[in-house]
Amino acid sequence: MKIILHAFLLSAFVSAAAAGPFEQLRGRLALPAAPEPALDARPASYLAGDDRYWITVTADDKYDRTTLLNAGLDIVEIRKDTVLGFIARSEMDQLAAKGFIVKSRQTIQNYAEKHLKDFPAADAAYHNFKETAETLRKLAADNPRETSLFSIGKTVEGRDIWCLRINPSEKGLEPSARPAAFFMGNHHGREHLSNEVALGLAAHLLARKDEPEIRNYLDTLDIYIAPMTNPDGAEYDIQTGKYRWHRKNTRINSDKTIGVDLNRNYDSLWCQAGASHSPSADTYCGPYAFSEPETRAVKEFIEARPNLKTLMSYHSYSSLLLYPWAGKDVPVENEKDRKVFEAMAKGMTAFTGYRAQQSSDLYTATGDTTDWAYAARGIFAFTTELEGTTFYPGAAMIDKAVARNVKAAVYLLGVTGDPYKLLN
Ligand SMILES: [Zn+2]
Repeated sequence: MKIILHAFLLSAFVSAAAAGPFEQLRGRLALPAAPEPALDARPASYLAGDDRYWITVTADDKYDRTTLLNAGLDIVEIRKDTVLGFIARSEMDQLAAKGFIVKSRQTIQNYAEKHLKDFPAADAAYHNFKETAETLRKLAADNPRETSLFSIGKTVEGRDIWCLRINPSEKGLEPSARPAAFFMGNHHGREHLSNEVALGLAAHLLARKDEPEIRNYLDTLDIYIAPMTNPDGAEYDIQTGKYRWHRKNTRINSDKTIGVDLNRNYDSLWCQAGASHSPSADTYCGPYAFSEPETRAVKEFIEARPNLKTLMSYHSYSSLLLYPWAGKDVPVENEKDRKVFEAMAKGMTAFTGYRAQQSSDLYTATGDTTDWAYAARGIFAFTTELEGTTFYPGAAMIDKAVARNVKAAVYLLGVTGDPYKLLN
């Protein structure tokens, strides 16, 4: 009973605080803070020691947003004159000196209390690492003619990065002359929906392997699906039974903070913009490009497959489809390639309803998967930011996101055989 009453009071307080003016008023009148429950009774006590804040900070344009990323802000939402996201305490304290106004802030513990309706227990439909591996194994076992399953490498903690190959003629690590497509999920730990979409795509293709369109792709293409690129980060995020908003991998950094941002660790203008050299930052680029076993595994996988033509990296959230450049504030210089990117983006967003744009129109961020894959290997590489308004949108979101994105992925398969035919 006491717990229920407490939860009720807490939620009333939190929703009032979220309204903004109440919080400001309380500050101005120096009202006593709401009584703090004992630490071990707080629903977010599992986050003790996490010094991040969830902040709203002024940002007028993409240049401001890039500067904020450089300053260590993990931009999660973009609004007209502001952005919202996580930042470590020490980095937040330096924003004013850089000319930014923090309009509101709350500790990650308070932020978590407000969002605790999203318990992993209520999200059992999502697949953790073990369930993801089991699902892939079952898909492979049920479709032995069409598939093979292998690991593209190990993570910091020694987990496998599993990859399902759909190709009836070549299996495992065998090379293929067929045009290839590579779908990846979960570069960022907390973006569990991206794992579901990649898994859903694998299940969809295999369930419809006898439909003429899908059969045609299975018989002419080499399709790879690696749903969980950062299994350590995904597991760490749910390890306590409650979400941690963990983005990075689980590397123990030189200053004992946890994690490198894998999507800033690729070797494309590494750590020049939109990434932080500070290990505590959520956008920490790592000590050097490809310092992490996860990104090295992806690099080696891609470099060993010159037949790769297209790549999709699923992230969440914002309902966006992004294409290079991310790390340069100019369009792709090769006009033919740029037109192919634009045409593919248009084709895919016709199915998802997401907004298609060049990645750096949001902000400049170097060292991501897509820039590297295109710059180093000429692959038409995209980032999808899935739908939703939170990293933890609940189980009901899975089917909707899968349905939309599977259609877009099938479209991508349709142009993987010859991307330049889109120019005709
Ligand atoms: Zn992401």
